[in-house]
Amino acid sequence: MPLQFLLMEKKVDMNKVVRQHLEMEQFFTGFAIRCESRMPEKPPQKDARPKPGRGDAAVAEKARELEKIAQEVGRCCCCDLGTTRTNTVPGEGNPNARIMFVGEAPGADEDAQGRPFVGRAGQLLDKVIAACGLKRSDVFIGNILKCRPPENRDPRPEEIISCLPYLQRQIEIIEPEIIVALGAHAARTLLNTNKPIGELRGQFHEYCAGLGRPPIKVMVTYHTAYLLRNYSPENRMRVWEDMKKVLAELGLPIPEHGEKRPIRS
Ligand code: URA
Repeated sequence: MPLQFLLMEKKVDMNKVVRQHLEMEQFFTGFAIRCESRMPEKPPQKDARPKPGRGDAAVAEKARELEKIAQEVGRCCCCDLGTTRTNTVPGEGNPNARIMFVGEAPGADEDAQGRPFVGRAGQLLDKVIAACGLKRSDVFIGNILKCRPPENRDPRPEEIISCLPYLQRQIEIIEPEIIVALGAHAARTLLNTNKPIGELRGQFHEYCAGLGRPPIKVMVTYHTAYLLRNYSPENRMRVWEDMKKVLAELGLPIPEHGEKRPIRS
């Protein structure tokens, strides 16, 4: 039976299809989406920006490369979402970011504006970023999918497979030191696993952007949309604990007010 009918009838494990595709890609291209090796310790750095050894020209080049990807995304018709979107949402932020947030897919507000995380979940993400003592312009914010799935349904495996190369290229260009995977879809896709978010959350994992490139740490935390739907002081604290680990790993100061600042809309 053709894949799309099997998928429609939900006779296959969707996540398994994506994982198998990624494993095959890794086998044939050497692209390693999951990397078991330990990341070398980095000396602590004091500021969110800039990364050492990166001049203005290199950062400007990164911005140009990211803009090229955004334009390609703007023309993309690789999956059916190309026919239902209003705007593509390629992602935005600091081309030289040390932290990259990756969500699932644009929602209605993002589709209307062509910008990531601008709806309620985005406002909450802004608060998380601010609680960390950072600005939105310090980080890069992207998604697994660059187009909104109708009615905000879950991303389909064929959509993830078509869209993922854009994110992989963005990660290669930005070379963030830490990726914060927001929610199960981002975490499972980046880590090529089927594990539940409860098992993945709160720990560093590793993503390798390709042969010869150092692995990038991935912190898995709850999606801010989940936090809005399931708000409790405990869940809010879990996200803050995860972000504290990110700040500590980067040698950034951990604002004390982050404990009390309401990261809730
Ligand atoms: N949720 C996401 O996963 N991404 C967005 O850009 C907005 C909401």
